[in-house]
Amino acid sequence: MRDKWEPWEYELGDLAEKGDVDAVSSALASGRNARSRALATALCRSANHGHLPVVELLLASGARPNLLRQGDPTMTALVAAVHARAIGVIEALLRAGADPNQPDPHGHTALAIATSSGDLDVIEALLRGGAAANLEASKGERPTRIAQIRQSEATAGLLAAKTEDEKLALAEKYAAVGALLKKGDQIGATTAAKRAKAALAALGRPAYALKLAKGEAADPSATQIGGEPLLPPGAPWPVCRVCAAPMMHLARVRLGDFEALGASGVVQLFECRHLHANARAPAELVAEHHEDGARLERRAPSPPARPIPPQHVKQVPKPKVDLPSPLLVSDPRLFDWKTLHAESRAAAHLFAIGGDKVGGWPAASEELVVPRCPDCDELLSLRLQLVAKGATGFVFGSRGRAFVLECRTHAGRIACVVQHDDW
Ligand SMILES: [Zn+2]
Ligand SMILES: [Zn+2]
Repeated sequence: MRDKWEPWEYELGDLAEKGDVDAVSSALASGRNARSRALATALCRSANHGHLPVVELLLASGARPNLLRQGDPTMTALVAAVHARAIGVIEALLRAGADPNQPDPHGHTALAIATSSGDLDVIEALLRGGAAANLEASKGERPTRIAQIRQSEATAGLLAAKTEDEKLALAEKYAAVGALLKKGDQIGATTAAKRAKAALAALGRPAYALKLAKGEAADPSATQIGGEPLLPPGAPWPVCRVCAAPMMHLARVRLGDFEALGASGVVQLFECRHLHANARAPAELVAEHHEDGARLERRAPSPPARPIPPQHVKQVPKPKVDLPSPLLVSDPRLFDWKTLHAESRAAAHLFAIGGDKVGGWPAASEELVVPRCPDCDELLSLRLQLVAKGATGFVFGSRGRAFVLECRTHAGRIACVVQHDDW
């Protein structure tokens, strides 16, 4: 996959890591546009080495701090700067809008990482930038709790300390960290979450977590992953608009199965898995809406459009209320996140329902601009979310996600968005 980047985009990352501000500057001034992922990767690599001038240059050139870098280790620039203990870089990123509470793909926050290494200056800088001391990351690690654990580990001699004095100094350090975090924890995690839920209540949307069983659905038009698509009689098999190859059927959602969505018709998703040489985009995704599913017929794919193993929805679960995350950005009409207390804003990172689902809001792994309807300008609604390691396997890389969104008023106004750390 790596060869899909242009050589100069890789080089940009190398120059940024070296801290060569002049070379980065002339690469950016060459008139070629680096893709967002390449800029974010360069930002992350320079942050990881504490190169403030390069970080500032990249931010001024449009690098977005809430995107993940390409490849391993996937992280944001802020987390990279925390690893480097580069206070100036941390502050520059926060000033540029880096979200201090964005959990990384492993569920760790910048503050949890800083707490673990006990760096008081870094912790102070993050708290000043709005990091929440009591945000429970996906692994259940609250920074306040991490500080307690570290303090008792130090006391018990479990941390690298040769002498009694070193042991004591470590225990004192983590006690100071704990005290600092306590000061930063103003309203508490429970209150923060409650306030955020109340503020976002009007944006609640029903979402159905997909529970799937192997095999084609008995009812030929029912919701399923993979297997055979439904096509109008006589219609050609969908082909990729980039490479003209037959596409693969990824999923079908019969909207009426999910009553709370108040929608009808069938949405189908196809993907081209060819690696388009030099394409500056992830593999093509196409979604289409058929209002009258009964008029469609199942079609077995002919090679090379291999089917992915079919899985069907055995029973539609009860819908849950899904709320948007602060990573759904750049639209003041969605929600003005600044109106929330920093701790409540942090808590809202944990609301979006992950995994494969129908309805709700995109559970983004990094900042995401929700597309709009070209007819009415409303934000599109999530119809389907598929995640790497979900029912479709690794089709979106190892940590990617795909979102199919459609206008609630204008059926057929559909957009597909892929978050894939290769692009
Ligand atoms: Zn293609
Ligand atoms: Zn519309």
